Amino acid sequence: MSKRKVIIIGAGPCGLSAAIECEKAGFDVTVIERGNIVHALYRYPTHQQFFSTSEKLAIGDIPFYSTERKPKRNEALVYYRKVVEEYGLTIEAYEEVTKIDRLGIHDFKVTSVKQNGLTMERDAHAVIVATGYYDSPNYMHIPGEDQKHVFHYFHEAHPFYNQKVAVIGGKNSAIDAALELEKAGAEVSVYCRYDNYSSSIKPWILPDFESLVKQGKIMMHFETEIHEIGEDTISVSDVTGTKRNDRADFVFAMTGYHPDHSFIRSMGVEVDMETGRPVFNSESMETNVDGIYIAGVIAAGNNANEIFIENGRHHGGLIASHLGAQFHD
Ligand code: FAD
Ligand code: NAP
Repeated sequence: MSKRKVIIIGAGPCGLSAAIECEKAGFDVTVIERGNIVHALYRYPTHQQFFSTSEKLAIGDIPFYSTERKPKRNEALVYYRKVVEEYGLTIEAYEEVTKIDRLGIHDFKVTSVKQNGLTMERDAHAVIVATGYYDSPNYMHIPGEDQKHVFHYFHEAHPFYNQKVAVIGGKNSAIDAALELEKAGAEVSVYCRYDNYSSSIKPWILPDFESLVKQGKIMMHFETEIHEIGEDTISVSDVTGTKRNDRADFVFAMTGYHPDHSFIRSMGVEVDMETGRPVFNSESMETNVDGIYIAGVIAAGNNANEIFIENGRHHGGLIASHLGAQFHD
């Protein structure tokens, strides 16, 4: 009998891990990815160093060696490329999945669009959605946020040399971006809504940052609310409610990201109103729709950071066991 087909949407670390585990379990796996493999990691800040040690990012039992205990983004890109090569995974890159139709029990039609506009239709016995969260920044929904000089992603600091830059947010991306920007000669002000440094900030990063604040090299504004972004200003208010306009040539709103559940909702997957999590069985990762599974950050709820590579990479194993038990036992 020909192998049962599994389609995975998204070639992030968790989608790739699921692909490997399903291949190992004897399925015919195709991964469809709208960018190229580990596209979210590719979009990280260029010089990003992971918080996780390399062995906690490894998938498919392939060791991840890095020059330091915590690898750099570039090393991770090489690692995941090599993993895909090693397992000979089938990746359909630059193809966006737009629709999934459930035609019957273990019978799905997956519709996608290639970069050249060509529409593809594939059939599958099961579908794993591993679409992550990095494509959906948390917008502040304030006037001026949609301007060209306002960013929700930080790549490199060089273009901001000698510019006044406002960084919004109080956790790791904001602190990382501020440090890089200061190093490259930008005049940096950080605005956050807490009254002190967040306990989420990695302890080995904070001392450098605090020292720059104490030296007056980074301006830190706690308990600040952002109201509006102008052409070269940012309108804020402090704890007393007093409003002021600070100069800002560029704005980095490092306000985090959230999984976009609208896609899985369109397939009939329910989302718990209270937790914000999709409805799924945590032992199999199968959603309330038979045959539709979720892997990685897409399974997170209101706290998007509860799932990351370290734990999301194990979802694939759970899915493969469940699928294997249904089709092969
Ligand atoms: P993703 O990696 O986001 O992959 C999802 C993929 O799906 C993407 O490639 C996307 O292009 C694709 N996709 C989306 N929609 C479609 C569609 N309709 N059709 C086709 N393809 C689609 N985690 C750690 O464990 N350790 C760390 O040290 C760490 N450092 C981080 C540093 C930064 C700066 C950031 C932002 C995050 C960090 N994380 C870390 C979190 C980690 O990046 C995510 O948890 C991880 O990427 C989640 O993997 P995933 O496979 O679920 O999703
Ligand atoms: P995050 O952890 O979600 O933090 C977002 C910050 O923005 C929080 O301080 C949040 O405040 C604030 N914020 C959200 N909406 C806001 C609004 N409307 N107005 C003002 N402030 C707002 O996002 P992140 O820092 O981008 O981190 C995302 C993930 O990447 C995390 O898992 C993190 O660990 C990871 N990361 C890893 C590294 C690394 O490995 N080196 C580096 C950076 C990030 P509230 O808390 O009040 O909502």
